[in-house]
Amino acid sequence: MADVTLDAVTKQFDTTLAVDNVSLTIDDGEIMGIVGPSGCGKTSTLRLVAGFETPTDGAIKYDGEDVTHVPPENRNVGLVFQSYALFNNMSVLGNVTFGPKMHGVGTEERRRRAHELLDLLDIGDLADRDPQTLSGGQQQRVGLARALAIEPRILLLDEPMAGLDAKLKQSLRTELGELLEELAVTTLYVTHDQEQALSMCDRIAVMNDGVIEQVGSPSDIYESPGNEFVADFIGTTTLLSGSVRDGHISFDFGELEAPGLPQGDTVTLAVRPDDFTVGAGPIAATVRNVLYLGETIHALAELDDGTEVTAELDRHTHDIAPGDQIKLNIDPGAPHVVDQ
Ligand code: ATP
Repeated sequence: MADVTLDAVTKQFDTTLAVDNVSLTIDDGEIMGIVGPSGCGKTSTLRLVAGFETPTDGAIKYDGEDVTHVPPENRNVGLVFQSYALFNNMSVLGNVTFGPKMHGVGTEERRRRAHELLDLLDIGDLADRDPQTLSGGQQQRVGLARALAIEPRILLLDEPMAGLDAKLKQSLRTELGELLEELAVTTLYVTHDQEQALSMCDRIAVMNDGVIEQVGSPSDIYESPGNEFVADFIGTTTLLSGSVRDGHISFDFGELEAPGLPQGDTVTLAVRPDDFTVGAGPIAATVRNVLYLGETIHALAELDDGTEVTAELDRHTHDIAPGDQIKLNIDPGAPHVVDQ
């Protein structure tokens, strides 16, 4: 295991600046997520850490040792990609023992290690199966066992759960999170799926257009987004801009209490759906849509000035339909100022 440092790393492909002067440290044993919109540079960052790409500028270090020009096969990283790329001419056991074999681990030891990992991942009974006969979730676990069998210094996961159904994702997310904690492997986890990142990672780096906008714990990122991009990208957020006057923020729709903010500033508030209360309050809105999301229900509504807001409705008592006029309030302590 190792800590990983990206030191002012840039990667330029022809005219595309995929990674732009990124500095980031992943602590020993930490699970670091990278999230961000398509094309923001997540996979390029992971490929740079793995050694499949060489930075145009900057350095990559494992435990302080500069590995920028060390080829991937000499970095001892475990990789799990979206396409499991299991060897179909080998059994499950063959897949998991292959890496250790290449690293010169003896037959007994590599079989012992493989069986232990397969048992840990609850697929011990699949050892003799042909990978092609396995379900997506089972293949994903074999891919993970194969990556872990080489006892990697760093584990790199790129969308390992893409293509799995929601229920399986949820159970694997819990299992994988527990397993990674238990093994204390330094992990870089690239995903589009912010729920996965929020629930599994110790810290998350939010990328946009080649740069890291914010690095923090899941609760930091969610509760205290550093800027409008992060507030908007992570979770559902309504951004409201107003000016501060006498302990209040004055918006077009009315005023909200805002103790402690400097007078005269223009501020942008990031308001989460559950920061709103629906029923009474100074904000008049017209409901445009009601979204059933399973565990929560969101009302998409429009304020008189055209601003769109998303408010959470009480699942058990709400009685709201598109076209209804509603009143909203915002819990004064809840929203977070993202810009001033
Ligand atoms: P996605 O979530 O869609 O997989 P991503 O955040 O992982 O996206 P990258 O795959 O890192 O994004 O790509 C970042 C940018 O670099 C994109 O504009 C992509 O087209 C470009 N890019 C990546 N690899 C290459 C390459 N080998 N040659 C040229 N451009 C590349």
